[in-house]
Parts: sequence; structure tokens; C-alpha cells
Amino acid sequence: MSELPVLTSYIGGKFVTSGVSFDNVNPVNGQVIAHIDEASLEMINTAVASARQAQDTWGKMPVKQRCALLHKVADRMAEREQEFIDAEIADTGKSLHQVQTIDIPRGTANFRFFADLAQFNSGETFITETPDGSKALNYSVNKPLGVVGVISPWNLPLLLATWKIAPAMACGNSVILKPSEETSSTAFLLAQVMDEVGIPPGAFNLILGRGSAVGDALTSAEGVDAITFTGASATGKRIMKSVADQVKPISFELGGKNSAIVFADADLTKAIKGVARSSFTNCGQVCLCTEKVYVHRAIFDLFVEGLKQEACQLKIGYPYDDGVFMGPLVSSTHQQKVLSYYRLAEDEGATFVTGGGVPRFNDERDNGAFIEPTILTGLSDTARVNQEEIFGPVCHISPFEDEDEVIARVNNTQYGLAAAVWTENLSRAHRVSPQLDVGLVWVNTWFLRDLRAPFGGVKLSGIGREGGQHSLAFYSEPINICIKI
Ligand code: NAD
Repeated sequence: MSELPVLTSYIGGKFVTSGVSFDNVNPVNGQVIAHIDEASLEMINTAVASARQAQDTWGKMPVKQRCALLHKVADRMAEREQEFIDAEIADTGKSLHQVQTIDIPRGTANFRFFADLAQFNSGETFITETPDGSKALNYSVNKPLGVVGVISPWNLPLLLATWKIAPAMACGNSVILKPSEETSSTAFLLAQVMDEVGIPPGAFNLILGRGSAVGDALTSAEGVDAITFTGASATGKRIMKSVADQVKPISFELGGKNSAIVFADADLTKAIKGVARSSFTNCGQVCLCTEKVYVHRAIFDLFVEGLKQEACQLKIGYPYDDGVFMGPLVSSTHQQKVLSYYRLAEDEGATFVTGGGVPRFNDERDNGAFIEPTILTGLSDTARVNQEEIFGPVCHISPFEDEDEVIARVNNTQYGLAAAVWTENLSRAHRVSPQLDVGLVWVNTWFLRDLRAPFGGVKLSGIGREGGQHSLAFYSEPINICIKI
């Protein structure tokens, strides 16, 4: 019998097993670090029943009390922060710096932010003039949706799961979380935290397993009132079909093929550093990462050379080593996918400014999922490499001549998540940004988030908005009450 830890589901306030498991692999060296016990259909049904039952406690609890408990979740996460950091690194190979400054603190912050905000989730009131000359009072009250299924990806595991769990629970919903099968460890720790601080049984449930089995069963389960999903657009399409029969509300944060535009009047040094960050952070595995860069022809050569220097300086290595910016990709399967796009770029006739392969370490890391940051030029906008989401540390740089041309080229994609505009001309920034068919535009920055601001994409990049009041709106059901005066 293996001595490795076994991660299990958490249902109705208990950690439970099916006895059927698969391996959890560390992408730094390919070693198996844990076993993941996959939830059975029966366990999923129990989770749904427990979540429904918890509506009598959690759903009816005074909002102040509910939100105080969510603050306790955040407090306990902060106390166990190092365990969360180590678990996220073990699953993903991300650098310590990133996990310490982004993944885990933002995960905790999601609970604090939505616990505070939900206390102001008030309804609307209208005095209505009626045909008989009198009046009516219309007011709305917000009720929880009931049971919300949260399906989250592997790229920012804790951060993206809590971005949905926190507002859903703050609004009084019971949650069933299905994290990515690649990254279950921080979700498992979160279940322990929920248990430790006394979240009522069934208000938070965790079901572990693969998307095609456990995820699919969750989306089609009767008794699940809404699905909130972050992941690939292709998976979103499947989920949409699965929920169609029961007409469940969905919130979708999907894939992207994001552009940066660098105008000739940009601060070149800032733009180069900014695009290096937006292309290579988390090995390019952020839905908001830049994969297409449009640079004004007047500064094209200077920009390409500058970005190449930045890419060549990025330290790739062990997550805990000083100064490491890039660890491995999340898995060898994903490494093969990204490499297949590097080969496709070759076939499509790209010039490799830098990268294109796998770094060699001559140690255990050669069994890991490392990959070189890569910069391409020379492809048309219609090349597959410029149309499909690669989700790796790679960008293609094209020259452009004028504003209208570049706007049209940025919009020439099925995706519409985010864009970054680099310019020192204020009027241009205001003129160009709203013309981009995306959900988020950053000007002279990237990935700067305010949790109150709307977040989401258009076209294949998603349906709906979360963040601040938008999250409260999705996770509650406003009921209008009309009283004739
Ligand atoms: P994925 O779609 O493969 O998996 C996401 C989740 O869905 C996982 O938990 C998976 O198990 C589950 N799943 C898979 N098939 C399912 C099915 N048939 N039914 C129900 N659930 C299923 O995505 P991924 O590879 O984990 O994540 C990367 C993708 O996520 C990229 O496309 C990225 O752009 C996107 N993403 C988008 C955002 C955003 O905010 N828009 C944020 C992060 C990631």
C-alpha cells in the first residue's frame, strides 16, 4: 500500500471516499505525490441532497452571522497559509513568489471581500402610480439560488475557485465545488478549513474527480440550481448543452486569445516589461495572458529586440529557488499541447525570435513539464497560431500602421476576454479602449484587478459578469413584491 496522501471528497460535513483513485503528479519532476479519490455518482447525489438540506441552515442564517463565518474561513486560511502555498506549488510547480503574492492571498481576500459586500445586497424599491389614481409599492428581496455547482480550472486553482465560492456562499447558497483534477490539493485544504471553523454540514461540499465524469454528473444533476464555471470554451459548450434541459442559470469565464497594442507613443521600456509580464506570467497560463502583440511599425524592431532580452533573462527552475519566474507548465500533457503549437508555428512559417523548445537541466526536472518562453514573428492574423488559444508562455508580434487597422485586427478573433493598450496619449487610450470587443481593457498595465469591477468576456470568452455587485446579482434571485396601497 502506498504511503502517499489520499485526497478525498467532503460531503455533508464528512470526508468520504469511493475507493477509486488516480495519481496526482508534480509537474516539476513527474513524480506521483498523492492519490485523488474520485467521487462516485452516489457520492455526487449525496452531495446534492446535503447541499439542499443545508439551505434550511445556511440559506436562512442571518447574513451577518453567515458572513462572520466566512471571515473565519479567511482567518483560518491565513493561519494555514504556508500549507496552502506548499499545496499549490506541489500541484502546479508555480514559483513561490507568485503563489505567495497572488494565488493564496487573493484566495483569502475573496472571502473577506464578499463577506463584507454581501451585507449590502439590498433590493430595489419603487412607488408605482396606478391607473385608478392610487399607488403601489414594488420592492424586491434577494433570495439565494439554492445549490450552486462551482467548476474551476487548474491555472489559478484556489484563487479562481474562491472567486466563485465566496460570493455564492455569502449570498446564502450551498456550494458543491468540483476543482480541476490536476489541482485538487488546495480545494481539499479549503474543505478542512470549512470543517474546522464550523460551516454547517452541506453548505460547502467538495467532489473530486475528472471533468468528463464528476464534472459532467454535477452539471446535469437535478437539484443543482445553477452552474458557475471557469475553464476552456469547448468545455463551456458541453456544459451549456448539459444544463439546457433544466434551464439552469450559468456564469461562464472561458478562454481567450488576448492582444496587446503598443503604440509608437508608448513608454517603450514600460511597454516591453509589461508585455513580458502579460505574456509569460504563470508560464502564460492565465486566461488574461497576451498571446498576440501588435506594435507600431516605427518601433517594431526596437520592441522585438527588447522583449527578446526580457524573455532571455527570465529564470526558469525549481519553484522555491530565489529569483525563479517560471516553473513548469501544469502537466506533461499540457507541455505536449504547447509544444505542438510551437511545431505548428514552424509549419505555418513563423520566425522564432527566441525559444521554441524545452529547457534541459540534466537532472530530475527533465522529467517535468518545463518549456521555453517563446516569441514569434512573421505570421498572418489568420494563422492558427494567431487564432487559437495556446495557454503557454508564447506571443506572436506583428507590426501595424494605424489605429483603425489595429482595432480591426485585434477584434478579428472568436474570443473576447482582455486587451492591453500601451500609449502615453490619453485621448487615444480613451478612444481605442471601448472599441475593442473584449470584457476588460488595461491601459499601461495588466492584471490589475479591483474586486468591485465587472469581470468577464464576450464572444467565446464567456457569458455574464462576476465581481462586486455583478457576483451578488448572479448568485441571488431577486423576488419582486407588489403591494397595492
Ligand atoms: P477545462 O475546461 O479543461 O477544465 C475546467 C474544469 O472543467 C475542470 O474542473 C474540469 O475537470 C472540468 N470539466 C472538464 N470537462 C467537463 C465536462 N464535460 N463537464 C463538466 N466539467 C468539466 O479548462 P482547464 O484546462 O482546466 O483551464 C484552462 C482554460 O480555462 C483555458 O481555456 C483558460 O483560458 C480558461 N480560463 C478562463 C478564465 C476566465 O476567467 N475567463 C480563467 C482561467 C482559465
